[in-house]
Amino acid sequence: MESLVAYQQKKAELVKDLRSASDQAIGLNKSTSNLFRQRQQSGAHKIDVKHFNNVISVDKENMIAEVEGMTTYEALVDETLRQGLLPTVVPELKSITIGGAVSGVGIESSSFKYGLVHETILEIEVLLGDGRVVACTPDNEFRDLFYGFPNSYGTLGYILKLKVKLRPTQKYVKLEHRRYNQAEKYFKDLGQFCAAARTRDGGYDFIDGTIFDSKESYITLGTFVAEAPFVSDYTYRRIYFRSLQEKKIDYLTTLHYIWRWDSDWFWCSKHFYMQNPVMRLLFGKFALRSTVYWKISAWSGKLKILGLIQKALGQRTESVIQDVQIPLENCAAFMDFFHQEIGIKPVWVCPVTAYDKKISYDLYPMDSTKLYMNFGFWDTVRSDRKEGYYNKMIERKVEELAGKKSLYSTSYYSPEKFWELYNKKAYDVLKAKYDSVGRFRDLYTKCVKRK
Ligand SMILES: Cc1cc2nc3c(=O)[nH]c(=O)nc-3n(C[C@H](O)[C@H](O)[C@H](O)COP(=O)(O)OP(=O)(O)OC[C@H]3O[C@@H](n4cnc5c(N)ncnc54)[C@H](O)[C@@H]3O)c2cc1C
Repeated sequence: MESLVAYQQKKAELVKDLRSASDQAIGLNKSTSNLFRQRQQSGAHKIDVKHFNNVISVDKENMIAEVEGMTTYEALVDETLRQGLLPTVVPELKSITIGGAVSGVGIESSSFKYGLVHETILEIEVLLGDGRVVACTPDNEFRDLFYGFPNSYGTLGYILKLKVKLRPTQKYVKLEHRRYNQAEKYFKDLGQFCAAARTRDGGYDFIDGTIFDSKESYITLGTFVAEAPFVSDYTYRRIYFRSLQEKKIDYLTTLHYIWRWDSDWFWCSKHFYMQNPVMRLLFGKFALRSTVYWKISAWSGKLKILGLIQKALGQRTESVIQDVQIPLENCAAFMDFFHQEIGIKPVWVCPVTAYDKKISYDLYPMDSTKLYMNFGFWDTVRSDRKEGYYNKMIERKVEELAGKKSLYSTSYYSPEKFWELYNKKAYDVLKAKYDSVGRFRDLYTKCVKRK
């Protein structure tokens, strides 16, 4: 943990550094990232935010944590669990930072109850391009920035500090994996489980799903329990996503439940041969972590290794790494399309609804009467089409089905379409007020343009 005084000192130095660069464009010098669209921002003055990565306090009585913007959820969970608490929503990759998950869009299996990550935040302290630092809450003079920040991807300012809501926890999570072979029934039941668990005291604490193909899908229902008859461990030789097909009931410690997807990066560890039993035995103890996969990806990306291998094999592929959010009533139609046209397997499914039905976040509005499903799919598809063919097809389908696409990966929208979908009117007002000289790039340039 770090003191508030130490935070104030680092903040003063950062502001001084930013002001020293007059009105040059600003880039960030960070140590981790979960973005799949790394682009260089040439000529920008890099501000160093790497050291804003500490938990400042955990207030057990009021169940609030105060943390710096670059703190990873791994560090925050370690601190809060010591006090028997957890953030109400914890994204499932250890390396995701709290500031990143608020500026992008974070989600997990408690989102059917507590909403997206930004709905778990009570205050953000934001460094603006002109060097001012403003504390934004839902009801102070900066409330417009508080509600406008989610989905702004660091284009309005940089979050230095946040207050995060916590909730009580128990030692274990009991899991029930229910198998389905038909999409309509699968989504109908998902909707019913979520509705029941939201209204009933003592209902499920976590709900998510995994679709292996059109005939094999699972809903996983998680409940906190104080005791467990046995406890599984998927951090070394055994693989969590395979256990869905093998077990109907399972128990994990709460810590292992929270990071259940991290060891195999959902199922993407196959690209690193880490689902091979020998590789797991030899390297599993230190390599089964999303942070290690990121390092390898960044390194192979720099050397363009995958592209060269594919070229040598005469194969062409298109990378389809996306999360999309679709209203429940259109989910079966989306999956029909997806199986037919894209065919990536498995797909992660995470239900989400607005936590506070009276509130709307300007750049990521949701219909508060609806339950949505987030679909995550992260792979490549064989392609003899023009680059972007499959991603564009997904973008069109998501729009047709009244859904929304996350912006952490590649996007192909024209400026007109992008701004129609991502609320240009509200964005322009925020940008003019909080970054009028444009020291941060604008949202379209940052999230869609290639340079
Ligand atoms: C393969 C994959 C799977 C994913 N799955 C999930 C998932 O299951 N659940 C989930 O919740 N999310 C998921 N995400 C999305 C992830 O939560 C978002 O991309 C999030 O923004 C990543 O946060 P980060 O801390 O890694 O930030 P980065 O990736 O470094 O940055 C994300 C963006 O936010 C900006 N940013 C970062 N920190 C700040 C800050 N403090 N203030 C202002 N702007 C900032 C950056 O400039 C950048 O534009 C996934 C992403 C990928 C690539």
